[in-house]
Amino acid sequence: MKLCEFLECEKGMLFVVSGPSGTGKGTICKKVIENIGADISVSMTTRKPRDGEIDGKDYFFVTEEEFVQTIKDKGFLEHANVFGNRYGTPKANILEKLNSGKDVILEIDVQGAVQIKETFPEAVLIFALPPTMKELRRRIIKRGTETKQKINERLAKSIDEVKFINRYDYAVINANLEIAVSEVESILIAEHLRLKSDINKIITKYEEEC
Ligand code: ADP
Ligand code: 5GP
Repeated sequence: MKLCEFLECEKGMLFVVSGPSGTGKGTICKKVIENIGADISVSMTTRKPRDGEIDGKDYFFVTEEEFVQTIKDKGFLEHANVFGNRYGTPKANILEKLNSGKDVILEIDVQGAVQIKETFPEAVLIFALPPTMKELRRRIIKRGTETKQKINERLAKSIDEVKFINRYDYAVINANLEIAVSEVESILIAEHLRLKSDINKIITKYEEEC
């Protein structure tokens, strides 16, 4: 039983997964959500959809003007420019989910993760790493979504991203997918059992029964 169920608290927990493009964040998160039932946030982006990507499911694909208007309306929990495109986490939807007791996973870049930690110090930050740079390149090429120039840009940027790892709570190395998925699930489970500021509620709960 989760500690928050035991203590009858109503809020869900916020998890962030970041890591170099092509590491397998999307693949891992999809499986964790299927297995554990957390919700993933659908980001807004000015990037053009890739083949097979669905508006409202993979991203909300918007124009630069729509993105800027959402910033003005204070509609983002965080937003950043990544590889020349804008990405942002819509605020209303996430807060609604957390308030209804659902856990939410944000698959966002390091700039976004830092902003989230400032607003939600209790958010849990997970950094996904590829086993090697060679394997990272192989995975991006295999995904087949980027031009050669974009692949090189993303690989070059990945070292800068890894330098942010000291801001994170956990590191998961995605060598074997099944193991990486179970490690992320273990983090979610452990974080739900972590003793926090409501520790006195546990004592009170048992005292009331005596
Ligand atoms: P990201 O979301 O981090 O950019 P993706 O989830 O799109 O990465 O994964 C990139 C590619 O790597 C995909 O083709 C995916 O199937 C593959 N992949 C993910 N995890 C593994 C793994 N552990 N071993 C081999 N290939 C993987
Ligand atoms: P992609 O274009 O491959 O879908 O995503 C590129 C990068 O943008 C990835 O590192 C991804 O995690 C990040 N990203 C996706 N959505 C968001 C978001 O809402 N905010 C931020 N800051 N980064 C995001």
